[in-house]
Amino acid sequence: MPTGGHTTVIQRILERRADKPAKTDEGTTATVAIMVRVLRPPKALLAFEDSALRQQMERHITPDILDFESVADEQEAVRRFGAEFRPVVLTDSQELIRKLRSRPAARTPFIVYVAELDDAAEREAGLAAGADECVGRRVSDRELDARIRAARRIAELESVLRVTLEENRKLSATDDLTRTASRRFFGKHFPREVERAARYGRALSLILCDIDHFKKINDTLGHAAGDQTLQQFGPRLQQVLRIGVDWVARIGGEEFAIVMPETAYEAAFEVARKLRAAVSHTAFNAGKKSLHVTASFGLCGIDKVPSGESRLAERVLKIADAALYRSKQAGRNRVTATNLQGTHDLPRTRSP
Ligand code: GH3
Ligand code: MG
Ligand code: MG
Repeated sequence: MPTGGHTTVIQRILERRADKPAKTDEGTTATVAIMVRVLRPPKALLAFEDSALRQQMERHITPDILDFESVADEQEAVRRFGAEFRPVVLTDSQELIRKLRSRPAARTPFIVYVAELDDAAEREAGLAAGADECVGRRVSDRELDARIRAARRIAELESVLRVTLEENRKLSATDDLTRTASRRFFGKHFPREVERAARYGRALSLILCDIDHFKKINDTLGHAAGDQTLQQFGPRLQQVLRIGVDWVARIGGEEFAIVMPETAYEAAFEVARKLRAAVSHTAFNAGKKSLHVTASFGLCGIDKVPSGESRLAERVLKIADAALYRSKQAGRNRVTATNLQGTHDLPRTRSP
C-alpha cells in the first residue's frame, strides 16, 4: 500500500468527492486519472537467468515505462519479492512463475513470461505455470513495449482500486466489522452533540470502553477470532442502550465510545455498569470456542453541559479517557466514573 504523500492526495480527492459526489461518469474517470498520476509508479522485478536476454530487457525498459530491479537468479528473485511486493514481474523462468503463484500472498503480481522460442507449446507452458502474458525472446520492440504498458496499466488500476477501497472505508460513517458508527462519524458528530447539549443546558454523558487483553485473543486464537469477538461486541453494547438515542462508535481497534445525550452522571454510571456486566456475564463465540471477555470503562457524565466553552468535546473525551485509564490501572473489568466538575477529585472506581 502506498504511504505518505500519495495517500494524502488521494484522501483529499475522495473527501471532496464524498462531500460533493460527481454527477457524471466523467468525474469518476478524472478522479481515477489523477490517482494514477499521484500513485508511485509500479515497480517491476526482472528475473532472467539468460544474461543476454536480461541485458536486452534492461536496455529496452526505460524508466518512463517501468521502474525496475533486475536479478539473475531465481532464489534472489523470490527473496526480493518476499521483501517487497512487485506488481509486475518479467521472467524467463517457469519455475519462478510457479513459485510466485504458489505463495499464499494477498496480492498477486502481473507476470510476463519471456519464452525461448515463440511457439504455441512454450507459450501454453508459460500460461499453465501461471503467467498472465507470454512473448517470445525475438519479440519486436513495439510489441514488447505494448505488452509492458498493458502490464503497467493493470498494476496501476489494481493499486488505485486498493487505495480507493481503503480510503472509502475510512470515509464511511459505519464500521463494517462491528456495525457501529465509525471513528470519522464520532469525530464529526460528538462535538455536535456536545454543542447541542450546551445550547439547551442539557445533560450528556460519554463512556469510553476498551476490551481487556484483546491482544491475547488474537495471539492465542488468531486474528479471525479477534474479529469475531469484535463483531459480537458492538451488538452486545447496543443491547443495553436506548435505541435511536444513545449511539456507539468504534474509535480504535478494540476501543468504543458510547454517546448518551440527555443522560446525567448517575444514570450514565448505571448504564456503564450494565455494559460491563453485559460484556463479562455472557461468553463470546470464536469459531467453536466460547470466550470469556471483559472490558474496562471510563465515564465522563455531565448533568448540565455548560455553554460558551470552546473545545468542550475534546475535554470531555480526555476526561473519559483518563477515567478509562484508571479502570485499566485498577485491574480492568471495571467502571471509573468522573463528572466534569469533579475532574480534580478522585474518580469513583467500582470493581465488579
Ligand atoms: P489492554 O487490556 O491494556 O487494553 O490490552 P489489549 O491487549 O487489549 O491492548 P493492546 O492495545 O495491547 O492491543 C490491542 C490489540 O487489538 C492489538 C491489535 O492488533 C488488535 N486489533 C486492533 N484492531 C483489530 C481488528 O480489527 N481485528 C483484530 N482481530 N484485532 C485488532
Ligand atoms: Mg484493550
Ligand atoms: Mg486499546
